[in-house]
Amino acid sequence: MFLTISTTGSAERPATDLGFLLHKHPEKAQAFTTSHGTAHVFYPEATAERCTAALLLEVDPVALVRRGQGKGRGGAPDAALAQYVNDRPYAASSLLAVALSAVFRSALGGQCTARPELPGQARPLRIEIPVLPARGGAELVRRLFGPLGWNLVEAEPVPLDEQFPEWGDSRYVRLTLEGELRLADALRQLYVLLPVLDDAKHYWVAPDEVDKLLRAGDGWLAAHPENGLITSRYLARHKRLTRDALERLELVRLAEADGSEVEELDNAVDEGRDTEERPVPLAVQRREAVLAALQAAGARRVLDLGCGQGQLVQALLKDPAYTEIVGMDVSMRALSIAARRLRPERMGERQSARVTLFQGSLAYTDKRLAGYDAAVLSEVIEHLDPARLPGLEYAVFGAARPRTVLVTTPNVEYNVRWETLPAGHVRHGDHRFEWTREEFRGWAGSVAARHGYEVAFVPVGDDDPEVGPPTQMAVFTRVTDTTATPGTPATTHTTDTPKEGEAA
Ligand code: SAH
Repeated sequence: MFLTISTTGSAERPATDLGFLLHKHPEKAQAFTTSHGTAHVFYPEATAERCTAALLLEVDPVALVRRGQGKGRGGAPDAALAQYVNDRPYAASSLLAVALSAVFRSALGGQCTARPELPGQARPLRIEIPVLPARGGAELVRRLFGPLGWNLVEAEPVPLDEQFPEWGDSRYVRLTLEGELRLADALRQLYVLLPVLDDAKHYWVAPDEVDKLLRAGDGWLAAHPENGLITSRYLARHKRLTRDALERLELVRLAEADGSEVEELDNAVDEGRDTEERPVPLAVQRREAVLAALQAAGARRVLDLGCGQGQLVQALLKDPAYTEIVGMDVSMRALSIAARRLRPERMGERQSARVTLFQGSLAYTDKRLAGYDAAVLSEVIEHLDPARLPGLEYAVFGAARPRTVLVTTPNVEYNVRWETLPAGHVRHGDHRFEWTREEFRGWAGSVAARHGYEVAFVPVGDDDPEVGPPTQMAVFTRVTDTTATPGTPATTHTTDTPKEGEAA
């Protein structure tokens, strides 16, 4: 099993920096004992212009068989003969991935104490693996590495026997990757994708494999179009672990997508505070509209669903009328910023007993949301795929069923009034949709009818005579089922219950 990593450079940015990044000196050949054999690291070339590091793993096939690991997928022992003639020692595979992580641990983690600036820099990389087992062939190799930022992904099928081309291709390819990437990113991709392509994981899949996968997949796996296949194969098709991993990846994807928006909102709020002559920012007007509606409804115990960085939670805390305040968001990053904003270290015991923040997704029913007076979903629904809305509808109106629900969302008609917004664009890249007033009223009206609520609409911001206000708010008030235990689904929803809502 053989893999080379090459880079180019110049006198100012020598290629031999690769040695620092890999924590392996270019002038030494080193050998490391790993659980499956000996890994050798050496540099066939090392100049300021070009530097290549090679990793050669010498596998001990007898040790493999003794350890019971020369087995096919699913753990079934191959025929006795196959155990001695199997391809493990020669082909790059999950064993190479394990060696990669053992020998280049710091590089994978993006650490370099000697030159801390290096791991963060992308550099020209060329990675070659002459014999890579690829179930799914060259086509799959391209689908897997294609979306990961490489300029060149070459997967050349290796013929079974060069003397007899009519025998066709083997299940191996020669892989070449070229591009400007950070070394740690490239290594993490290989660490996950080599065993995925091999599809014959040699060890038992333990629950902590999901953590390993998410760590190695950080920054690229959540948004990868093949993340279903990658996850399932990486976890040796273990169904429950695959589902867990995919759910966590979905949370990561949402969190990655929402990050920029919360910052923008924050800036808008801060600007508004500093310069008084400026018009009141829309985010502030929205919060005031929400606070007024909560007060009018006489709410005491309030859920802020999709609370983002916690501005509304903070405002609610300032008013002692609110005895219990819960902020929920799918994004851990937003929640940790919210937690800092609230300055728990300055709160007394009674104050901190009033507020709770937790992670959760509105796409699923959640018992923790039952029994509150009001729920606020401020600028949240447009972040969910339309296909998830029935799940959200059931979670909020079918299961949690607070007396009051406030939903705000952009009015797409108003977009023509934003000077900086190009025609036909939504206000933020992560908005899955933006509705006209009619579309929002249509959705809100049918939700209300299905779940026994009444709904009224309140404009937020400058209410333009032609295109309406920038933000539209629906105020839902529960009218039926008032004596039912919170959390008991209304009888009216039964024909419309979405699967997702039931699942959780
Ligand atoms: N309510 C805040 C933040 C709006 S930004 C405000 O009005 O300022 C949208 C928020 O919804 C983000 O913080 C995002 O993480 C969250 N979100 C997106 N999808 C979600 C889901 N399925 N469940 C819970 N929160 C979600």
